[in-house]
Amino acid sequence: MPLFTKVIASIGPASSDAATIFSMVKAGVSGFRINFSHGSPEDWAKYVDAVRSAESKLGRPVALIGDLQGPSIRIGRVEQPIVLKKGETARIVPGSEAKGGDEKVIPMPINKFFDAIEEGDILVMDDGRTRLRVSGIQTDYIEITALTESVITSRKAVTIYNKEIDLPSLSEADMNNVKFAIAHDFDYIGLSYVRSGSDIDILRDYLRRVGREDIGIIAKIETKSAIKNLDEIIEKSDAVLVARGDLGMNFGLEEIHSLQSTIVDKALQHRKPVIVATQLLESMVEKPVPTRAEVVDVSTAVEMGVDALMLTGETAVGKYPLEAVSWLIKIVNFVEKSTLKSEFEDIAKKARKNISELKLMFAKGVIELAEDMNAKLVVFSIYGNTAKRISSLRPTIPVYVGSSNISIMRKLAILWGIQPIQVDANNYEEGLQKAVQKAIELGYVGYGDLVIATYGLKEPRQRIEIQRIVS
Ligand code: ATP
Ligand code: MG
Ligand code: MG
Repeated sequence: MPLFTKVIASIGPASSDAATIFSMVKAGVSGFRINFSHGSPEDWAKYVDAVRSAESKLGRPVALIGDLQGPSIRIGRVEQPIVLKKGETARIVPGSEAKGGDEKVIPMPINKFFDAIEEGDILVMDDGRTRLRVSGIQTDYIEITALTESVITSRKAVTIYNKEIDLPSLSEADMNNVKFAIAHDFDYIGLSYVRSGSDIDILRDYLRRVGREDIGIIAKIETKSAIKNLDEIIEKSDAVLVARGDLGMNFGLEEIHSLQSTIVDKALQHRKPVIVATQLLESMVEKPVPTRAEVVDVSTAVEMGVDALMLTGETAVGKYPLEAVSWLIKIVNFVEKSTLKSEFEDIAKKARKNISELKLMFAKGVIELAEDMNAKLVVFSIYGNTAKRISSLRPTIPVYVGSSNISIMRKLAILWGIQPIQVDANNYEEGLQKAVQKAIELGYVGYGDLVIATYGLKEPRQRIEIQRIVS
């Protein structure tokens, strides 16, 4: 059985070479994230080439996600990490670069940070591992005292606990990265620190103006405002991402599970794709085997019915990027095999509620026909909309989607239950026949299988073909 829950890996120094990326795609990774907060455009261009070359060698469409820095406060560059013991002090000074190391000076390029900061504020960094208290405010620096053992490295994001600084949703640097993503044919842009639906409008309007509204927008849910405005954010975006790193810094850590299930449930109700990220297999940054707790966390996310799970530090800077990918796939595979039918009745019930649109009713009917007959579903889709609809209803049988448009297939690659296959055809009838043929050639459907083939609901006549594969 193919994976229903998809796997996305972040690329960084630990996974940047072409051979590693190739192995990841071969193992089953169907999307890659490039974090524009780190590295340089030259690095990213190399990553993109490696992803595209693995994709064409293996004939598997892969989604590329460019993750914008967004209105986050990040420290500047430090040559050496700054290591602080509990109780030790350091200084934060205006500027974008510093030596770091024993000098214990942290550069801060954002002036608004200094306007907002007050004595007693708590600064949280590094997915919550680093906590610092503002212990003094001087005219030319801020003194902080470490509340935890802290290792502070370049460009790390800083959250001031319980404060949001009003920064523009897309900075000049973000705009340059959007242009980079457009020029390099990224499939999705991840919008960080989204606060309301209007943050999405700004990027959407820009993409529309430059004729690239085909690029999907993934809203990263990580701020308090995003939780408050969750419905309108889900409504306006193409997918949402549970960004557990910052979410856990902006809320109490104990709230993470409940926040994650709220976001996933809302996304299912709105029938929008949802991705869960950060610290899925965090211990694998250092070790080749995950902890029991991590296995349970990943299993829980699969049982919630998420579209995809995204590795971050594990593959970007970890010692075992390939092992992290294989473990993630192994866990997903097991959970899907053992619980897909039972757990998924509940998920499907949630996803298939309140359907009033004709096209969705059609998709639901076709899925349920295939499920009841224990058939595989083959769909031909020109724009990908039928495939998206089907995925959003959480089919528990494999769905193979033929399309002649590589860019559509890449976008579909990270959606629940969808296996994209490349088919050259210009019309629906031809496309449908070729999609079934290709699914047979690729071994996705075989002797004895029952196949239900269709394209989206098209007026005035619609085709649903049911065939038993006999050769
Ligand atoms: P975010 O808040 O957007 O998740 P992050 O700083 O946590 O940002 P991740 O993408 O989660 O970044 O990656 C984890 C770490 O891997 C980063 O903090 C950074 O040190 C390193 N890293 C990621 N990508 C790169 C890159 N392209 N070049 C160098 N280091 C990178
Ligand atoms: Mg992170
Ligand atoms: Mg982030």
